[in-house]
Amino acid sequence: MASLGIPANTIAVLQKYNFNFQKKFGQNFLIDTRVLENIIEESSIMSTDCVLEIGPGIGTMTQYLAENARHVIAVEIDKALIPILQDTLSEYDNVTVINDDILKVDINALCNEYNEGKPIKVVANLPYYITTPIIMGLFESRVPLDSITIMVQKEVADRMQSGPGTKDYGALSLAVQYYSDPQIVANVPPNCFMPRPNVGSAVIKLTRYDKSPVDVHDEKKMFSLIRASFNQRRKTLVNGLTGGGIGVAKEDVLSALEKMELSPTVRGEALTLEQFATLTNLLFG
Ligand code: SAM
Repeated sequence: MASLGIPANTIAVLQKYNFNFQKKFGQNFLIDTRVLENIIEESSIMSTDCVLEIGPGIGTMTQYLAENARHVIAVEIDKALIPILQDTLSEYDNVTVINDDILKVDINALCNEYNEGKPIKVVANLPYYITTPIIMGLFESRVPLDSITIMVQKEVADRMQSGPGTKDYGALSLAVQYYSDPQIVANVPPNCFMPRPNVGSAVIKLTRYDKSPVDVHDEKKMFSLIRASFNQRRKTLVNGLTGGGIGVAKEDVLSALEKMELSPTVRGEALTLEQFATLTNLLFG
């Protein structure tokens, strides 16, 4: 099959099926073979791997994945794309296409069915409007995962990778870094997609930790602390937490900060993941 990463081939398929792009589904198809090859290389897929692709579109990346992996599960919400995928993937017997919303699919059940419950790899050019719920859903539902290699909005990739004291640092950075080691592996300009998105993109690889780098007794409590601290970014941590409806007393926060040798006026954005874990253990331990 000729690569759909070549623009003329994508255009031919779109015309054959008279396909109309749906903005509401974040449809920006890749039309650059170098970017596709780079994603495949960075995701380090092996011939024994089971890969989950979120939003295969017309199957451009799915073809590359099918060539490299043992099995590919591709979940696509747009039913107009299903007959197209049947056509563009007809040469492969190792691809399962599921017409559903990825946020409603039981991914754990798919792992059991297609990979005996062993860790899968996720590879995708994500629909940008649901980047955060997709990533957090994968981590929080404890899907057995090796890594997630995804195309996201450049700005979001920066947020996932940044550390304390930077403008991009926030709840998403801490959540992603609690579960994985994030590395931006490529920046991708709008002209690599059809239609062109209005934003720059980046490929980021999130390598799942077997065990998180920090020890926290109650991770749910830690994430509510993190959210409360960043909800009101300009407030001090003490004011953010005590006004945030999470039920901690001002004197307890002040005493925890003192034990941690942090200033009583410190802001949440200055704390590392490890410090958020320590603070949680002190407040709720
Ligand atoms: N993988 C293709 C490519 O690289 O050319 C398409 C990527 S496009 C950015 C995102 C794809 O995700 C679209 O095909 C879109 O229809 C699909 N999609 C959007 N929302 C989805 C959802 N909730 N569940 C599954 N697929 C979704």
